[in-house]
Formats: sequence, C-alpha cells, structure tokens
Amino acid sequence: RYFLTTPLAAAELILPVEMYKHAITVLRMKIGTTFEVVTPDEVIHCMKLVAIKNKQAIAVEVKNYKNNVELPVDATIICGLPKGDKADFIVQKGTELGAKHFIFFESDYSIAKWDKKKVAKKLTRLSKIAQGAAEQSHRLVIPTVEYLEDLAQLIVPNATTCITAYEEEAKKGEASKFSKLVTNLKSKDKENIFAVFGPEGGISKQEIKILVDKGFIAVGLGPRIMRAETAPLYFLAALSFGLEL
Ligand code: SAM
Repeated sequence: RYFLTTPLAAAELILPVEMYKHAITVLRMKIGTTFEVVTPDEVIHCMKLVAIKNKQAIAVEVKNYKNNVELPVDATIICGLPKGDKADFIVQKGTELGAKHFIFFESDYSIAKWDKKKVAKKLTRLSKIAQGAAEQSHRLVIPTVEYLEDLAQLIVPNATTCITAYEEEAKKGEASKFSKLVTNLKSKDKENIFAVFGPEGGISKQEIKILVDKGFIAVGLGPRIMRAETAPLYFLAALSFGLEL
C-alpha cells in the first residue's frame, strides 16, 4: 500500500519516483502485479501494473473502495523528549495504534536534548517511520510529527479533550477520571483529543501548571507506573478498546 499526496487525476497512474524505486527496484513488481494506493480523500484504489519502460511504470485502477480503519477520534500524542531511540518506538507503535499527530517537546526533566540544527532531520526521519507504520498497518492517513522547544508554545486547535498523564495522580490511586473520560467519549461526536506524557524523569510541577492553565486535566492511567514509551501506547490502546470494541 502506498500513499499519494494528490487525488488520482485519472484511472491511470504514472508511479512517482519514490514509489517507482520501492515497487519496481526493491520489490521487483512485474506487469500484472496489483497493489493499493490511498489518496488524501481516504479512498483506497486497487491498481494493476500495465507497463514498465524507460524507468517509468504505469498502473491502472481496477476498483476503489472506502474502508475506515481510523480511530473515531483524532488523537494527538505529546511527549517530553525521551532517551535514545524511544521517539522512533513511540511514533511507530503509536501509528499502528491510530494516533493522528505526534509532538515532542523539550521537557524540564528530559535527559535527551535535540541539537537545534538537527531537528529538521530528526523530524524527517520520524515522519518516514510514521509512513512505514501507516503503510504496514493499513492506515488511511500518515500521522504528522512536530517538535516544540517549549511547552508554553503548545496550542491545541479545536480541542475537545485535553489530558496530561500524571504519575502523581496515579500514585494517589486515581484512575477513575481516565476511565470516565473514555466511557464518556462514546456518546460524543468527532473528538479531538490531546494527551501529554512526561519523559523518563516525569512531568515537573511547573509543566503541570502550564498545562492546567491551557485547560488540560491531570489523570492517572492506573496503579502501575509505566515507562515513558509505554504510557502513550497504553493510552491509545485504552482509547481504541473503549471506543471500538
Ligand atoms: N519518574 C516518574 C515516577 O517514578 O513517578 C515516572 C515517570 S514515567 C516513567 C513517564 C511518564 O509516563 C509520566 O510522566 C506520565 O506522563 C506517564 N505515566 C506512566 N505511568 C503512568 C500512570 N500510571 N499514570 C499516569 N501517567 C503515567
């Protein structure tokens, strides 16, 4: 499955360069091979390769259909910069679990720091990871990945629910706010949820204040304290289970 950034202009497609490289050079697709492309209108087009000549390949549409595999809510996962390659892990697994957007921020207790000169390169890499995971999990959209130098700059356009997973709430034994939130979502229309998670060192009191001032509610996610990369995945899995099953 491949993603196109523009709708199909006709029932025929000349494979764009990256798609050509992957389909013809890497996968060695032959004439007659079928594959799918997803357009920005979330339509899935079944294509058949009909010509490969002079470094150009042409496919024609055999049929198209809609099959909504997206979560019924828009979920944005906002994480304090985690250590090592954990951002890769969060983006890959979070994409499989249905997140729409990821934002990483320099948090007070982040051990990891991103060299400002390398932010663009890191985001390109993470976007590629999101694309690979979206293709493999048959998503209809590729999640976006952003970086924030300062949590105070966070904006939450059209948010309907904003939470921050806070270990201090969990330590109080308070998980009912989160379970109530998931239960209440069922009855609402298209939700736009923003959820913040701390890095390995947790979230500082100052950050909680910034978030509460922006309308975020601090919630516990149950009695066990999870690793920084586990908490957002648990959140998405709980959301998905609560809303769809
Ligand atoms: N150092 C912190 C401590 O010992 O309490 C743990 C931080 S935890 C590894 C990283 C982040 O995951 C937290 O800031 C929080 O956002 C989230 N998290 C992990 N377990 C959680 C839970 N049970 N409830 C709420 N948030 C949790």
